[in-house]
Amino acid sequence: MIFETHAHFDDDAFKEDRDALLSSMEEGGITTIVNISSDKKSIEDTLALTRKYPFVYGAVGIHPCDTEGLTEADLAYIRNASRQDKILAIGEIGLDYYWDEPDRAIQKKWFEAQMELAREEKLPVVIHSRDAAKDTVDMMKALRAEDIGGVVHCYSYSKELAKTFLDMGFYIGVGGVVTFKNARKLKEAVEYIPLDRIVLETDSPYLAPEPNRGKRNSSLNLPYVAQQIADLKGTSYEEVVMVTRKNAETLYRMG
Ligand SMILES: [Zn+2]
Repeated sequence: MIFETHAHFDDDAFKEDRDALLSSMEEGGITTIVNISSDKKSIEDTLALTRKYPFVYGAVGIHPCDTEGLTEADLAYIRNASRQDKILAIGEIGLDYYWDEPDRAIQKKWFEAQMELAREEKLPVVIHSRDAAKDTVDMMKALRAEDIGGVVHCYSYSKELAKTFLDMGFYIGVGGVVTFKNARKLKEAVEYIPLDRIVLETDSPYLAPEPNRGKRNSSLNLPYVAQQIADLKGTSYEEVVMVTRKNAETLYRMG
């Protein structure tokens, strides 16, 4: 009964065996998946996946790394997509300063525009923030993100910063990195974050957990993530699966 809050099954990495893999999810204990889009093509592909598979839902939005050249017409396209059945959130959106491009001003412009879109459409946001902690927090505060709500996905910052996101009412997405031996900072953050604010995610096809690190990731690896969180929290695997599912349903307003 695992709830996968963040995967990219539209990715080319699944070109050969997408159908077989998705058809094996239920047997593998993965009963709900939210497919997250990152550019216009993946919005289209996400919509198609939500129509094909009863257990697949979607989020629509443009990843900060794909914001170069976006137009108002693209924003209207996202708005229309967000009103389709089974679309639960706007994402992934945010800031990524790991690469030098797109220019930070462009990333900020479209982060803000998509946050406002989420507010207007009354949908939560899926936030991607990499090497951009200060600007992400400053913008979220300025935009009153606490009125929008959502998740900070693939959390990679400190436990101190986690408090800031928690204070704004956000959930924290924890994925395969938490199983890496050198992920001391993230393990500390996960010890700190209350279990009722954590959601499970893979970011498939990226960031496979131990013992599959380096391979193509899929939601079938989520038990390794859940077990690691259980170990860090001193609770049971079953408890982690149950609570994170409830959290995900609240985050994505599925009640
Ligand atoms: Zn992602």
